[in-house]
Amino acid sequence: MHRKPTKTVFIILGMLCCIFNCLSQDISYTFSFPNIAHHEMNIELVATHFQAGPLKIRMSRSSPGRYGTHEFGKNVYNIQAWDSNNRELQLDRIDGDVFRVSQSDGYVRISYTLYANHPDGTYSGVSEEGIHLNLPSVCLWFEGMDTTPITVKFKLPENSKWKIATQLKSTADPNTFEAPGFQYLMDSPVKIGDIIFKEWDEKKSNGGVIHFRLAIETSSHDSLITAFAGKLKRVTAEAIAVFGELPDYDFNEYTFLASYRPAMIGDGMEHRNSTMIMFPAIFNGSNDIDVFAHELFHSWNVERIRPKSLEPFDFTKSNMSGELWFAEGFTHYYGELLQERAGYLSAEEYTGRCLAGYLNTILNTPGAQRYSAVENSRHAVFIDYGSGIRDFTNNYPNMFTTYYQYGAAIALALDMELRSRFSLSLDNYMRNVWLKFGRTEIPYTISGLQQVLRELTKDTNFAKEFFDKYITGLDKFDYSKALARCGFSIQKKHPGKAWIGNLHFKSKTQLQLARTIINSPLYKSGLDENDQLLRLGNAKINTVAELESTLNTHKPGEQVTLEYKHDNTIKTVQLILEENPELTIVPFENIGLSISAEVMTNRKAWLGNKVSPTKN
Ligand SMILES: [Zn+2]
Repeated sequence: MHRKPTKTVFIILGMLCCIFNCLSQDISYTFSFPNIAHHEMNIELVATHFQAGPLKIRMSRSSPGRYGTHEFGKNVYNIQAWDSNNRELQLDRIDGDVFRVSQSDGYVRISYTLYANHPDGTYSGVSEEGIHLNLPSVCLWFEGMDTTPITVKFKLPENSKWKIATQLKSTADPNTFEAPGFQYLMDSPVKIGDIIFKEWDEKKSNGGVIHFRLAIETSSHDSLITAFAGKLKRVTAEAIAVFGELPDYDFNEYTFLASYRPAMIGDGMEHRNSTMIMFPAIFNGSNDIDVFAHELFHSWNVERIRPKSLEPFDFTKSNMSGELWFAEGFTHYYGELLQERAGYLSAEEYTGRCLAGYLNTILNTPGAQRYSAVENSRHAVFIDYGSGIRDFTNNYPNMFTTYYQYGAAIALALDMELRSRFSLSLDNYMRNVWLKFGRTEIPYTISGLQQVLRELTKDTNFAKEFFDKYITGLDKFDYSKALARCGFSIQKKHPGKAWIGNLHFKSKTQLQLARTIINSPLYKSGLDENDQLLRLGNAKINTVAELESTLNTHKPGEQVTLEYKHDNTIKTVQLILEENPELTIVPFENIGLSISAEVMTNRKAWLGNKVSPTKN
């Protein structure tokens, strides 16, 4: 997503600016908020010292870290352009998201209004309570000026005491920031409001320090925020223990931008030196640590260990990647594992909720049974719109499964294999991937990931087989045996309970079905979306509670008559009840099984903290 703004680039740009100051190309944005109550902002965009002639100006159609296509151009209006003599230029909208100035004199000033009412990881939100900007949804940009240095200035509402938090480079003026180029600008979210900062330093492996900041909007008590910053520090230490070192963050700074306000849309989005996390919830001092851990982990895995398919990021369309099972899935595995290792989630909760979720996804969803992790990753361009934006014109429940959970299940399988067969762990693997592709910022391919596994295990067959079976293939790993080695048992969550399918209703008062899932009793009986359940056996079923209690009077394997309404017709069908396939994972000690010292050692090596809590 972000071309690496190396120090060399900064130095060269700096030198060029000094020597050719009056000639060097420059772009500046000025953001102001004259109609904030109605979610509008004004943007003035100036480019200087470029070659005179026609000029193409674009709005993005995608945003790094979110894989669906978005038409950000829909929120741009009142657009005008002027030349260096302040004469208005002819500006044409030649496509929904593309504008053209047919003749320019090497200077252009553009002004436009942007509407922003959706504060999440992809879109922006402008309101009297605060400003939340994801810049691909805000900034028009000039084609062909990717490496031009950029200045960003904010004109805050009058008498505002608001503060600005961003990964953009700060300057002597607290309201002015800089970006070394287009890709870095687009990757830099901005939060403006009543922000409370908590700050701490972490040592870099090569000397010096990284300055960490929690920049949070919440009305909760300061002591909760201070305690939370301590938890983030602890989770960060556990993440460093996986990779062996922190990334070399640009400007030696990493910022957690967080908002807990009613208007927020629940979401989290990773960036190169920051993350934007927001929830419409009350901050209680321990919310969502797994989300913070997940987004921080991304600063290694996806921001620097970067799939070649996403580099450089193309803002004019969606960017397809077959590697999201690794970029998102392995990050998902670690987001929850780090929370557990840091002591903020019990081993029982971790296995019973998180790991069981991975297994139900990989073993019980049609998407994982029918399509590989790579194929599911590629489908993200159609699916990943973000929360609050939904598309129901598809058959996803029967042909797609989330690459977060699918990938996390593969991470679990690899972790178990490395531990049991090689006296290694997934931590070793991630560290080697980091050294080969992350620290060097050489974009990777799937065969590169396989190569690291081969080099780590010194076992060519194992590495090939693992990738062939579980990543490009459809084989499923034997999780039962692997988890037993650490004293956990996979069990049916509802043993002996009759089941007709996972129940998703459009209306719970009428039991009108949403999509039915392939291979479930309802699907096999021909029922689909909009069919309304009326009677099961002899019992009328009008509510979920009535359906559940009726199912409790039957057993898996029984044949029952199901009456339902299809369009305007009442139909009946003979349906064979099955056992609910949902799985759970329980510790041996909870089901009366003994645990040997060896099993306990295995469990601790996997789930135990890697950094002593007292060290922080
Ligand atoms: Zn993620």
